[in-house]
Amino acid sequence: MAGIKFRALKRLRELALRRDASGQVLGAMADATSDAETCLDLDVARAWRDGRVSCPARYWLARHDAGTLKEGPRAFVSFHLGETACPLCQANLDDLRRAREQDLDPLIERMQASTVQYLRSRTHGAADGT
Ligand SMILES: [Zn+2]
Repeated sequence: MAGIKFRALKRLRELALRRDASGQVLGAMADATSDAETCLDLDVARAWRDGRVSCPARYWLARHDAGTLKEGPRAFVSFHLGETACPLCQANLDDLRRAREQDLDPLIERMQASTVQYLRSRTHGAADGT
């Protein structure tokens, strides 16, 4: 494995020398090979985050919050929110919760009103002697 890599690098250097007399490519190659892994890690991590590659869709977050996800997706969303602590999804989730609270207030009022109405109708019915 190391031999193949060495030969490939040697061949690349030869090609670079032939094409690039000023040595710019060789300089870049030296930089790249000394910390190629670090560069790669950084770029992949950044691309992953910037592209939101692993971010679940908003409705997955909503379902996760409502506890209606199946085990697999639930584990994934939990991991994404917990272990990776994705700030974008956390903000999305906060927004969802805020929106739901605002939506819920009038709904609860309506429900309470109709519950009172329902109970009144029941107690009146009982009082009438059924
Ligand atoms: Zn995310």
